[in-house]
Amino acid sequence: MIVSEPRRPTASTVKTVRTHCPYCAFQCGLLVTPDGDGTLSIAGDADFPVNAGALCLKGYTAGETLGHPDRLTTPLARNAAGNLVPVSWDEAIARIAAGFRLLQRKYGRDAIGVFGGGSLTNEKVYLLGKFARAVLRTPHIDYNGRFCMSSAAAAGLRAFGLDRGLPFPVSDIAMADAILLVGANVSETMPPIMQYFEEQRRAGGQLIVVDPRRTATAEHATMHLRLIPGTDAVLAHGLLHVLIHERLIDEAYIRERTEGFEAVRAHAASYWPERVERLTGVPQRDIISTARTLGLASNAIVLTARGAEQQSQGVANVLSFINLALAMGRVGRPYNGYGCLTGQGNGQGGREHGQKSDQLPGYRRLDDAQAREEIARLWGMSPEDLPGPGRSAYELLDTLGRDGGVRGLLVMGSNPVVSAPNATHIEERLASLDFLAVCDFFVSETARLADVVLPSAQWAEEDGTMTNLEGRVLRRRQVVPPPEGVRTDLEIIQGLAEALGSPRGFPASACAAFAELRQATAGAPADYSGITTGRIDRERGVFWPCGPGASHGTPRLFADRFPTPNGRARFHRIHAFGSAERPDEEYPFFLTTGRVLAQYQSGTQTRRVRRLSTAAGGAQAEMHPQAAKRAGLANGTEITIETRRGRASFRLKTTAAIREDTIFVPFHWPDEQSANRLTNDALDPISRMPEFKVCAARITAAAGGRDNR
Ligand code: SF4
Repeated sequence: MIVSEPRRPTASTVKTVRTHCPYCAFQCGLLVTPDGDGTLSIAGDADFPVNAGALCLKGYTAGETLGHPDRLTTPLARNAAGNLVPVSWDEAIARIAAGFRLLQRKYGRDAIGVFGGGSLTNEKVYLLGKFARAVLRTPHIDYNGRFCMSSAAAAGLRAFGLDRGLPFPVSDIAMADAILLVGANVSETMPPIMQYFEEQRRAGGQLIVVDPRRTATAEHATMHLRLIPGTDAVLAHGLLHVLIHERLIDEAYIRERTEGFEAVRAHAASYWPERVERLTGVPQRDIISTARTLGLASNAIVLTARGAEQQSQGVANVLSFINLALAMGRVGRPYNGYGCLTGQGNGQGGREHGQKSDQLPGYRRLDDAQAREEIARLWGMSPEDLPGPGRSAYELLDTLGRDGGVRGLLVMGSNPVVSAPNATHIEERLASLDFLAVCDFFVSETARLADVVLPSAQWAEEDGTMTNLEGRVLRRRQVVPPPEGVRTDLEIIQGLAEALGSPRGFPASACAAFAELRQATAGAPADYSGITTGRIDRERGVFWPCGPGASHGTPRLFADRFPTPNGRARFHRIHAFGSAERPDEEYPFFLTTGRVLAQYQSGTQTRRVRRLSTAAGGAQAEMHPQAAKRAGLANGTEITIETRRGRASFRLKTTAAIREDTIFVPFHWPDEQSANRLTNDALDPISRMPEFKVCAARITAAAGGRDNR
């Protein structure tokens, strides 16, 4: 059988280790102590300045997945009867190498793809990108962060010349007099961050939350703007209109530090409050009040998250809110500015070091000749042999198994059967592959389709570095060794590279991999070259950029200039088109998706944690009581939600906290409860981010009840 006990620490090895939570981008500091019986005691690290000892339930229970009975402890491969059965590591690696070689001989190098994840350590991200480009020599590597972070990243690059989620320490939140929080439910997604919002409120600060739902975070706010899904950019234009009209913009800052404002000023003129109320559903008095609160505040911060970003106009939405922050002259001043609240554990580092289809390590562009030259030299290859940009995550998945598409795929740290939009279609594409290899801790929904599954080590079983939502580079430390039979992802990459003819250049040690990553990022936008593990320990994390001669990292960006060719930030004139799909007669509701407190992403880990499953054991659809009444549905009914892509079943929870025209479903569950069987795969034209947050849906009672069409 594929299960074994984790290797137990002996009394002499038991000690408390300082490390970080395996889940979200807040990367709470943990104090982890092996109990000697295979379990871990976990407490918050009060000395780590970001969470200051606070944790959410996911952090406290993170040890449960290590010794879970479902844990994979031997590689699996599909036998002649079509079943996944245990095989040796040698056989598993050899089968992957042979499968990939065969497909590349038959269809060319581009026939192999790699799909990574935003929870992988920086070292894994770096070596996975190198493996794809230097060993497989394929352009097709992308990752699930494309589903999470790419719109904010693309907007940051366009406006500021650099993308770092928060360009200031998270503690600045507590010092802001006014905060506009757009599309974020941080009370549930990263609860320990609330200590900063609470401090801000205690000091008399104003918090304005923009969300179609009155979430736990909105409950905490001084004002809640319950906008129609997909109208974020319109709302931002309306706020800018009022700021301009009431002379609450900073003309000197605009003149000296930015470019492109006049076109934006002219465009905003047509977004007067009455019109914006009609388009967004937000009362004009609230629009005016919000603009005044922001414009008159001594310190003001604008924050966005997935609500505004996961749309087919996600980049435009973010740029519209960046316009606001720039017009008020906030960006680059302490306790002010624009920031994005990154989601996944290494959502920041995961997009910096080369697993994105268009980027090389350090946030260099793959189409930059100098970057290609430098990285190719470091990797011992010719720049001409370095592949160019490949397909973005959804486009890569969408072409799997097709003519001209990827025929063999390696998945590491991702579960796209649950996390990709239009999930039934993506499951079919994955099933159509000639060869699929998956590295995971458990047989995830994606691993179920694999030809070979490799069991990998978990967070507390390996070393590495992570970069949190502030751009602070942290150390993840090994607490216990992996169970017998399990390998780290670095060991897996090394083994695959060796089997494919590259015996050198893929260290299994995180320390050696980080040393090479530092070299690869020297002089790049995300420069890690001056960051050492000693400095991380001493400084409680180091903010990038941090070059070799730097005496410290860079907690605050953009103080004097922006990293654009002329040093100025750029305004962008945005046409607000709204979502790709809107309710109609057939599908009369907006459907939006998100997370709940006790689960994380595709749930591969958290659905297996007993206390989390008790707190949130299945998917509930939230709907307004009036809308439910009109549809003849009672609270607690099993319902089916349908969209043009598929159907899924949920238990109905009626709540007045949601708009009457909107249904909310969480996306942590698979199969019949899979929210992503419903979501729209319309992509943002710039970031290629799918539109998870808005589509049109209808509801029926699951057991033959009246439907609402
Ligand atoms: S899930 Fe996020 S907020 Fe919760 S303990 Fe982990 S890092 Fe902290």
